[in-house]
Amino acid sequence: MPTNTKTITLECTFCGHQEPMRTFGGACPKCGEVIVEARYDLDALRASQWAETVSRRRPHLWRYHEVLPIYDTDNIVSLGEGHSPLIKSRALAAALGLKNLYIKDERQGPTASFKDRQATVAISALKEMGVDEVVVASTGNVAIAYAAYGARAGIKLWAFFPALAPNDKLREVAVYGAEVIKTTGTYDQTKALAQQFAASRGIFLDKGIKSVAAIEAMKTMAYEIAEQLTWELGAPSSGVPWRSPDWFLQGVSGGMGPIGVGKGFREMRTLGLVDRLPQFGMIQSSGCAPMVDAFMRGQRVATPVENPQTVIATLATGAPGRAYELLYDYVQENGGYFVSASDEEAFQAIRTLARNDGISVEPATGVTFAGLFKLVRQRVIKPDDVVVVNCSGHTLPVEKTILGEQWQKQVDLASAPTTPSLPPEDALMNAIDMVGKRARRVVVIEDNVEAARLMHRILQTRDDTEIRLAHNGAAGLALIRAWRPDMVITDLMMPDVDGFAVVREMKADPALADIPIIVVSAKELTKTSSATCRCCCKRARS
Ligand SMILES: *Cc1c(COP(=O)(O)O)cnc(C)c1O
Ligand SMILES: [Zn+2]
Repeated sequence: MPTNTKTITLECTFCGHQEPMRTFGGACPKCGEVIVEARYDLDALRASQWAETVSRRRPHLWRYHEVLPIYDTDNIVSLGEGHSPLIKSRALAAALGLKNLYIKDERQGPTASFKDRQATVAISALKEMGVDEVVVASTGNVAIAYAAYGARAGIKLWAFFPALAPNDKLREVAVYGAEVIKTTGTYDQTKALAQQFAASRGIFLDKGIKSVAAIEAMKTMAYEIAEQLTWELGAPSSGVPWRSPDWFLQGVSGGMGPIGVGKGFREMRTLGLVDRLPQFGMIQSSGCAPMVDAFMRGQRVATPVENPQTVIATLATGAPGRAYELLYDYVQENGGYFVSASDEEAFQAIRTLARNDGISVEPATGVTFAGLFKLVRQRVIKPDDVVVVNCSGHTLPVEKTILGEQWQKQVDLASAPTTPSLPPEDALMNAIDMVGKRARRVVVIEDNVEAARLMHRILQTRDDTEIRLAHNGAAGLALIRAWRPDMVITDLMMPDVDGFAVVREMKADPALADIPIIVVSAKELTKTSSATCRCCCKRARS
């Protein structure tokens, strides 16, 4: 049934200004705020016995399409996502002394994480707008989901990854035919690069938490949980048809999940479907816990973590910005807690969950369960509370890291292969191993002479590598066309033809489109002059 007569209004989360979604320009025209929320005609829905209608539909995410930001249901791009099982925990619940512990099993979605929700809504919205190319910055799961849905919709995807993103995730993105660009920076730096790239080429940039689609997509978890808990425990005695849990728990990075879930419960309360909002348990990795730090100090504004110290890339947002303020406000109003868990605690929790309840999860979800254990131990969560844990994903085989005698040693930050504070030469070597392990002919484009020399020296440590240098983008492109290297490493910021232009030209030429490209920023390499020395010494010794 097409719903193109629907009215969708956007409301600024800062000043409350409202305007139609169709004319929205990306920021509030009154105050400039970029996080806005969709508003639907809830009174009309309430009057139409909507819950009845919904209950007769097939169990997937789009059964709530009246409260999703799509005008015409013909534009929906779906892979059967949503209505993931709500599994009642047995052994783990008993061990924790909880009577009602439920696991929302988001691993069972089409690309095995709850980013499927974001992808189906965002890609459908792009299709509705006629967009055919999109840029995204991701630590892994968003890009995997967007790559799958983008392939299905015929929308081309450019995926930018930070140094920390695991190679298994990048490979999966490439399988769907997306362009994969690995940077040597942090997640926050990578987001800035993706933004520049999109702007330089006039391609649509996915704004993550700052886009209406993301929050709306995540809120469908709330609708599902309320329906599913009613199937489990019956409707509450207050007379509303659906049931809210006492707690919703999630491992948090940017905060999109809980912000969306909070909005979902608020809407359902307005619709008369539930009687209250759950408390939130938000768990961060202790190596990157800006929200927890601010919460413990009683602050509404988080101080960014510049250099996240965790191997769990999925949770490595160092600068949560206004998302934290929104979550802080939610907790002030409805209750909740922010807590952190170390990487070791997360890996231990993965084993505990797998061995008790038969559910194997990725490290970001391990963080959530480690947080659950703490909140129960601290008696923040009580034995009678109805608790729902967002089992957010399992997109990466972690068995090799968590099993075996040495598993604890392997997650030790100092020895971890993907520590974010890698010296620049190691970050570069990592990136090379990832995109072109067998590359022997390498073009380096770098206008800064000192950085070029350093890169040359780093590359020379590889066996049989032939290196050619170009000192600007135009010379680099000419060299690439003439010499056909196996790999290109390019600086970004160069006068005239910059790194983005090099990437663009190469991807536009079928003869060059398959050559792997690594983007580096000269600043990172030259900033730490000790790296130069370490690199020389290493070579001298070997
Ligand atoms: C994205 C992601 C998170 C963090 O999500 P936010 O709600 O944006 O903080 C946690 N776990 C998994 C598996 C994820 O993919
Ligand atoms: Zn505003």
